[in-house]
Amino acid sequence: MKIYLDGKFVDQADAKISVFDHGLLYGDGVFEGIRLYGGNVFRLEEHLERLEMSAKAILMDLPWSRKEISDATCETCRQNGLTDGYIRLVVTRGVGDLGLSPWLCPKPSIFIIAAKIALYPAEHYTSGLTICTVPTRRINPAALPPTVKSLNYLNNILAKIEAKQSGCLEAIMLNDQGYVAECTGDNLFVVRKGEILTPSASQGALKGITRDAIFDIAAEIGVPMREANLTRYDVWCADECFLTGTAAEVIPVVKLDGRVIGNGKPGAITARVLEAFRRRVLVEGTRI
Ligand code: PMP
Repeated sequence: MKIYLDGKFVDQADAKISVFDHGLLYGDGVFEGIRLYGGNVFRLEEHLERLEMSAKAILMDLPWSRKEISDATCETCRQNGLTDGYIRLVVTRGVGDLGLSPWLCPKPSIFIIAAKIALYPAEHYTSGLTICTVPTRRINPAALPPTVKSLNYLNNILAKIEAKQSGCLEAIMLNDQGYVAECTGDNLFVVRKGEILTPSASQGALKGITRDAIFDIAAEIGVPMREANLTRYDVWCADECFLTGTAAEVIPVVKLDGRVIGNGKPGAITARVLEAFRRRVLVEGTRI
């Protein structure tokens, strides 16, 4: 596997960063998870825009143009002969002396991995996922905005551990007011009376690129959709529930905290969304 690292393609074994990189020392950096479908990078521009906003939010100047990062991303796919896969694009604060201050790091580092991913076993896309609510709360947006896709994922990792300990592959994280924020690595949606509802970023959700696509898909298939404050009650009493993410795509949820959602089977609107999503990813994107 060839990795793009600071302007060069290197073998996986040689793709190394310094122990003094603040991305490693402090989680100081930003990243994107991006998907490649049939030779098209899905919503690459949107991912790069979010990366730029994440970098801006942590006061990190990206010394590369959007075009340079875009070209490097596509080239990484080509170098690895990939037409379908998952791309991990990471920008770290770079190498600096010990100490939190970002000004200790003269230049950021960038690396891009293009590989394969299968987040959930295939059968869950037809039978639906069983999820739970975990005790770890989503970090307060006033402490660290969840809209910033940063290298600080411990909040989500703690929740992921709790999900696993409860025998679930994914879990709902509530915000500190008890509203549903999102899942550990996916956005959450419910369907109620023919309408799709999803928590807003101010409730602690990452503005997912897949989530954005769901707004477009809802308009395409004629299903009303809006942001809403959701409690666990809204999920328990929903007709349908599904999650989205770059790695997860669109996956139905049929049980939360031991309670059956709707009729316990993936819902009809979820199926239409999933079908429209699978159509869309093949035609929408940047050709590598
Ligand atoms: N929430 C969190 C916490 C995530 O890490 C992700 C990405 N894995 C998502 C939501 C989904 O975002 P996207 O659709 O951009 O992958």
